[in-house]
Amino acid sequence: MPVQVAALIQLTFVHAVKLAFTHPQLVVVQQVLSLLDREGIACTLRNEYAAGAVGELAPLDAWPELWIQNDSDYDRANQVLEVFTAEVEEPEWSCDQCGKSSPATFEFCWHCGWER
Ligand SMILES: [Zn+2]
Repeated sequence: MPVQVAALIQLTFVHAVKLAFTHPQLVVVQQVLSLLDREGIACTLRNEYAAGAVGELAPLDAWPELWIQNDSDYDRANQVLEVFTAEVEEPEWSCDQCGKSSPATFEFCWHCGWER
């Protein structure tokens, strides 16, 4: 069963716990776990031991998963995750106005305020 379908079924029956993040590399999931922990968001790591060795990709249905323990933390957790994934996946962008580069998480140029 694909992990998304499995997650959906679990979400249907267990309303108090939500899947927040999954990634084939345990180190990445652990990094997110510590980020959420720092924000005071309680979460549970699942499939921790299903993953392969460091640097090895686990099969899709064995990806380590992070589950949020309190529904009320879910939106905040998503904000943390948005920032995290933006930092990981997006390169810096250059301002059309002044040419300075800004981090991917900035919507305006840090130097002149030009909108991206
Ligand atoms: Zn600029």
